[in-house]
Amino acid sequence: MAKQWNFKQELISNFGKPIAENPTQYMIERAFQHHGLDWRYINFEIDAEGLSDAVRGMRVMGFRGGNCTIPNKVAVIPYLDRLGESAALMGAVNCIVRHGDELVGENTDGKGFVQSLNEANIDPHSKRVVLLGAGGAARAIAVEMALAGTASFTIVNRTPQRGNDLVTLIEEKTPAHAELVTWDGDFQVPPDTDIVVNATSIGLFPDVEARVPLDLDSITSDTIIADVIPNPPRTRLVREAEQKGCTVLDGLGMLVNQGVIGFRNWTGVDPDPSVMRQALEEVFGE
Ligand code: NDP
Repeated sequence: MAKQWNFKQELISNFGKPIAENPTQYMIERAFQHHGLDWRYINFEIDAEGLSDAVRGMRVMGFRGGNCTIPNKVAVIPYLDRLGESAALMGAVNCIVRHGDELVGENTDGKGFVQSLNEANIDPHSKRVVLLGAGGAARAIAVEMALAGTASFTIVNRTPQRGNDLVTLIEEKTPAHAELVTWDGDFQVPPDTDIVVNATSIGLFPDVEARVPLDLDSITSDTIIADVIPNPPRTRLVREAEQKGCTVLDGLGMLVNQGVIGFRNWTGVDPDPSVMRQALEEVFGE
């Protein structure tokens, strides 16, 4: 019998602007190849102006799902059919999944972070967390950790309004407790803190030597330090915390794991995270 050919690939989109330097495409395509899937992941330069048409395009062209990045994570919501639990709580979508005719908005950033904790055998349940920053990454991490049972958050943010918005979100929508400290000078980590998360953009390429204003004498080797910065993975904070003997999580783990969850949502296949991490290490030169 003649071989049955299939010349129609399954498609995944990524809408953002800027988009050309976004490495998720490289990471996901590597996993498609590794798992023998004839799928394609395509970056599209799209902002608010084109977003409605872009999502309509996803529907009519049969895209199986996609990612959304800056500036589309909030703006995309009105064009979707419904939201998953954490995306609804955060009010932000980074992953779109097709279920039949419906496009469902999910947020996998925080789930990716919690998965990184799990991989390091750290259970977020009952933990006391210092969360530096109150932007999109911080909101995603706070909501997902709170849903996983984290007891309390000290939100440390430069701009009080943004910090207050996150405190209100945690207090009103999750069982966790939260308080705000307005960032002024080097922050002293309270002695009963289990985990410190840098969810600011301090240290992101090209400003790689920028210092997170944190009094490192206020942490001990028992403090877990997590940095969300993926580029470079070995940030100044990561290096200094390692020198103190802390358990350290870098931003690549979160980036890989949000991709793993998206991949599984789209394809039903559990991808090999090491293949995806390897692809990112090539991109970021580690
Ligand atoms: P946002 O712009 O939404 O938030 C940035 C946060 O950083 C704000 O809280 C801001 O404070 C704070 N900040 C920035 N510069 C400074 C500074 N010099 N001093 C004190 N605070 C500062 O960005 P996102 O939350 O979307 O992204 C933050 C970082 O997380 C980025 O570097 C991004 O690359 C990374 N990220 C990593 C992911 C991963 O998978 N590893 C996933 C998503 C994001 P203020 O409110 O005062 O402006």
